[in-house]
Amino acid sequence: MSEEKTIFQKIIDKEIPSTTHYEDDLCIVIEDINPKAPIHLLIIPKKPIPKLSDASEEDVSILGHLMFIVGEMSRKFETEDSFNIVINNGASAGQTVFHLHLHLLAGRDFSDLFPA
Ligand code: 5GP
Repeated sequence: MSEEKTIFQKIIDKEIPSTTHYEDDLCIVIEDINPKAPIHLLIIPKKPIPKLSDASEEDVSILGHLMFIVGEMSRKFETEDSFNIVINNGASAGQTVFHLHLHLLAGRDFSDLFPA
Protein backbone atom coordinates (compact mmCIF):
# COMPACT_ATOMS: atom_id res chain seq x y z
CA MET A 1 0.00 0.00 0.00
CA SER A 2 1.51 3.32 -1.04
CA GLU A 3 1.54 6.23 1.40
CA GLU A 4 -0.48 9.36 0.69
CA LYS A 5 1.54 11.98 -1.19
CA THR A 6 2.32 15.17 0.68
CA ILE A 7 1.00 18.45 -0.68
CA PHE A 8 4.53 19.34 -1.80
CA GLN A 9 4.91 16.05 -3.69
CA LYS A 10 1.64 16.85 -5.49
CA ILE A 11 3.04 20.29 -6.38
CA ILE A 12 6.32 18.76 -7.61
CA ASP A 13 4.30 16.26 -9.68
CA LYS A 14 2.17 19.14 -11.10
CA GLU A 15 -1.00 17.61 -9.71
CA ILE A 16 -1.88 20.85 -7.96
CA PRO A 17 -0.87 24.37 -8.97
CA SER A 18 1.58 26.69 -7.26
CA THR A 19 3.31 29.96 -8.03
CA THR A 20 6.70 28.63 -9.03
CA HIS A 21 9.77 30.88 -9.22
CA TYR A 22 12.46 28.32 -9.97
CA GLU A 23 12.81 24.64 -10.78
CA ASP A 24 15.68 22.32 -11.63
CA ASP A 25 16.44 18.60 -11.39
CA LEU A 26 16.89 18.75 -7.63
CA CYS A 27 14.44 21.30 -6.29
CA ILE A 28 11.51 23.62 -6.80
CA VAL A 29 10.89 27.09 -5.34
CA ILE A 30 7.31 28.18 -4.77
CA GLU A 31 5.47 30.97 -2.97
CA ASP A 32 4.00 30.02 0.38
CA ILE A 33 0.20 29.97 0.14
CA ASN A 34 -0.08 31.65 3.56
CA PRO A 35 2.85 34.10 3.59
CA LYS A 36 4.30 35.23 6.92
CA ALA A 37 6.34 38.00 5.28
CA PRO A 38 6.14 40.10 2.09
CA ILE A 39 8.51 37.58 0.49
CA HIS A 40 7.89 34.01 1.66
CA LEU A 41 9.35 31.32 -0.56
CA LEU A 42 9.59 27.59 0.02
CA ILE A 43 12.69 25.83 -1.30
CA ILE A 44 11.76 22.16 -1.64
CA PRO A 45 13.96 19.25 -2.71
CA LYS A 46 12.38 16.91 -5.22
CA LYS A 47 13.62 13.98 -3.16
CA PRO A 48 10.95 13.34 -0.51
CA ILE A 49 13.07 13.63 2.64
CA PRO A 50 10.41 13.96 5.37
CA LYS A 51 12.41 16.25 7.64
CA LEU A 52 15.96 17.58 7.95
CA SER A 53 16.87 15.07 10.66
CA ASP A 54 15.99 12.25 8.23
CA ALA A 55 18.63 13.36 5.72
CA SER A 56 21.55 11.00 5.28
CA GLU A 57 25.10 11.46 4.06
CA GLU A 58 23.99 10.71 0.50
CA ASP A 59 21.80 13.84 0.71
CA VAL A 60 24.68 16.22 1.44
CA SER A 61 24.86 17.53 -2.12
CA ILE A 62 21.09 18.12 -2.20
CA LEU A 63 21.24 20.02 1.08
CA GLY A 64 24.11 22.14 -0.23
CA HIS A 65 22.21 22.80 -3.43
CA LEU A 66 19.17 24.02 -1.49
CA MET A 67 21.36 26.52 0.36
CA PHE A 68 22.89 27.70 -2.90
CA ILE A 69 19.41 28.22 -4.37
CA VAL A 70 18.49 30.29 -1.30
CA GLY A 71 21.27 32.68 -2.28
CA GLU A 72 20.16 32.67 -5.91
CA MET A 73 16.57 33.47 -4.90
CA SER A 74 17.69 36.22 -2.53
CA ARG A 75 19.45 37.91 -5.45
CA LYS A 76 16.49 37.33 -7.77
CA PHE A 77 14.20 39.05 -5.25
CA GLU A 78 16.83 41.74 -4.49
CA THR A 79 16.89 40.89 -0.81
CA GLU A 80 20.37 39.38 -0.61
CA ASP A 81 21.33 41.64 2.31
CA SER A 82 18.28 40.87 4.46
CA PHE A 83 16.45 37.59 4.80
CA ASN A 84 15.83 34.76 7.23
CA ILE A 85 15.82 31.02 6.64
CA VAL A 86 13.63 28.75 8.75
CA ILE A 87 13.44 24.97 8.77
CA ASN A 88 10.77 23.55 11.06
CA ASN A 89 11.79 20.02 12.04
CA GLY A 90 9.07 17.91 13.64
CA ALA A 91 5.44 18.55 14.52
CA SER A 92 6.24 20.03 17.92
CA ALA A 93 8.56 22.51 16.19
CA GLY A 94 5.77 23.63 13.88
CA GLN A 95 6.36 21.38 10.87
CA THR A 96 3.06 20.68 9.13
CA VAL A 97 4.20 19.27 5.78
CA PHE A 98 6.48 16.26 6.11
CA HIS A 99 8.56 16.87 3.02
CA LEU A 100 11.70 18.88 3.83
CA HIS A 101 11.49 22.54 2.90
CA LEU A 102 13.30 25.79 3.69
CA HIS A 103 11.30 28.94 4.33
CA LEU A 104 12.95 32.05 2.86
CA LEU A 105 11.43 35.08 4.58
CA ALA A 106 12.16 38.69 3.69
CA GLY A 107 10.65 42.15 3.87
CA ARG A 108 9.81 41.83 7.56
CA ASP A 109 11.91 42.28 10.69
CA PHE A 110 12.34 38.97 12.53
CA SER A 111 15.24 40.20 14.68
CA ASP A 112 13.03 40.13 17.80
CA LEU A 113 13.06 36.32 17.54
CA PHE A 114 16.82 36.35 18.22
CA PRO A 115 17.46 39.41 20.38
CA ALA A 116 21.10 40.36 20.77
P1 5GP B 1 5.85 23.98 7.81
O1 5GP B 1 4.80 24.42 8.80
O2 5GP B 1 5.71 22.50 7.51
O3 5GP B 1 7.23 24.38 8.15
O4 5GP B 1 5.53 24.77 6.48
C1 5GP B 1 4.57 24.38 5.56
C2 5GP B 1 4.22 25.58 4.75
O5 5GP B 1 3.55 25.16 3.59
C3 5GP B 1 3.29 26.57 5.47
O6 5GP B 1 3.92 27.84 5.58
C4 5GP B 1 2.05 26.61 4.57
O7 5GP B 1 1.50 27.91 4.47
C5 5GP B 1 2.57 26.10 3.25
N1 5GP B 1 1.58 25.40 2.45
C6 5GP B 1 0.70 24.46 2.87
N2 5GP B 1 -0.05 24.03 1.86
C7 5GP B 1 0.38 24.69 0.75
C8 5GP B 1 -0.03 24.66 -0.61
O8 5GP B 1 -0.94 23.93 -1.03
N3 5GP B 1 0.63 25.50 -1.47
C9 5GP B 1 1.65 26.31 -1.04
N4 5GP B 1 2.23 27.08 -1.96
N5 5GP B 1 2.05 26.36 0.25
C10 5GP B 1 1.41 25.56 1.13
